Amino acid sequence: MSYIIQGETGPWEVVIGLEVHAQVISKSKLFSGASTTFGADANTQVAFLDCGMPGMLPVINTVCIRQAVKTGLGLNAIINRRSVFDRKNYFYADLPLGYQISQFAYPIVGEGTVILDLKDGTSREVGIERLHLEIDAGKSQHDQHPTKSMIDLNRAGVALMEIVSKPDMRSPEEAGAYLKKLRAILRYLETCDGNMEEGSMRADVNVSVRHPGEPLRTRCEIKNVNSVRFVMQAIEYEAARHVEVYEAGGIIEQETRLFDSAKVTTRPMRSKEFAHDYRYFPDPDLLPLELTEAYIAEIASDMPELPDAKKARFIGEYGLSPYDAGVLVAEKETAAFFEQAVEGHDAKMVANWVMGDLFGALKRTGRDITDSPVSPANIGKLVDLIKDDTISGRIAKDVFEIMVETGEAPDKIVEEKGLKQVTDTGAIEAVVDQVIAANPEKADEVRGGKDKLLGWFVGQAMKASQGKANPGILNAMIKKKLLG
Ligand code: MN
Repeated sequence: MSYIIQGETGPWEVVIGLEVHAQVISKSKLFSGASTTFGADANTQVAFLDCGMPGMLPVINTVCIRQAVKTGLGLNAIINRRSVFDRKNYFYADLPLGYQISQFAYPIVGEGTVILDLKDGTSREVGIERLHLEIDAGKSQHDQHPTKSMIDLNRAGVALMEIVSKPDMRSPEEAGAYLKKLRAILRYLETCDGNMEEGSMRADVNVSVRHPGEPLRTRCEIKNVNSVRFVMQAIEYEAARHVEVYEAGGIIEQETRLFDSAKVTTRPMRSKEFAHDYRYFPDPDLLPLELTEAYIAEIASDMPELPDAKKARFIGEYGLSPYDAGVLVAEKETAAFFEQAVEGHDAKMVANWVMGDLFGALKRTGRDITDSPVSPANIGKLVDLIKDDTISGRIAKDVFEIMVETGEAPDKIVEEKGLKQVTDTGAIEAVVDQVIAANPEKADEVRGGKDKLLGWFVGQAMKASQGKANPGILNAMIKKKLLG
């Protein structure tokens, strides 16, 4: 789906690249033993190293290295056998070291790919440029005191993976799909929890525009956007702003901007710094990181099934459409629920109940699928009851609502409430006769050729049977009675 902005000077396309900072799942920080638990009291999880005490030496946390390699493999990327930690020098009140330990020329992970699943069922590939490891800074808090700023260093030193995409995206929708897919991969891998509200995944969004076919123009970087929706809104605003400037004969300066989610705009933060401004140099306290083939092979042998592989399997094994399979694998908990529910039942029907009624009920009740009131096994049972004509699709909706409320099994509900479908032709005939006898004029109209009224009779008779008549038998019976 193309996203083109029409201007006086012709069509404009938007070019988007994303830099995602993903917090590594690890009990302790990248170079110190301090805890990474979220939500602790300020400055209670700070080692001497994290607050820049002199003489402290960093010790690499091998769990974080393992997580980065695993993520690299999950992104179909090159794992660099040798990488180097550098100091990225800058001053900030919440950075007591005076530099960030990062990787510059030699990152731990090189080029890879992410496949986007778009709404129309098509896919598209986005290149990964690199993934490097670095430490997070502390957090400045400006809203805790009327005249003072507070600094919390709990986050200082926590391991981040900075995942840089190529400028391969061409619409806000593609950027949204990229973030969702990346988040799904990280969650499947259990290398980052992907929780954007808590800041464990945040995106820097690079946006430029150009007339199709032109070389890349100047980009602006929108910093630290913390939801998929905000990323999409920021791109939309920023692209339109660039077009407006160019159309008016102006130029775009490379700069760093902030997204204002209340106004849905971006505003300048600072003129863009360049790599050389940071005076990167290899951290003299850290040796280059060298990985053996055996180490990488061992991690590769222990990878979970990732969303793309699971999607392909759902299509092949269960005969689902690419769209349905994509929806079901988007969260690994949903995929697991579906696989438990489908065991021995009609896959397409189970998929429909999960994606339709169950998703709806979860949303309505504000629950997560891991705490679904309806068990996977009961979805399977419900589907069987419809399939073997015990209940109609219509009654199944009511049964499902009771399942959501009570968590009970569908067969038990059907039994207790007497909802079994009536397939006894004699019983259905009696109902049909009664409805026709009560509406003689309408019956004559049908006999006179007014076919549309047939549906009305079906509806009345179904109502009279309390929704329990088998629809096929009921339909045939009404036709037979009225039209012979
Ligand atoms: Mn970074």
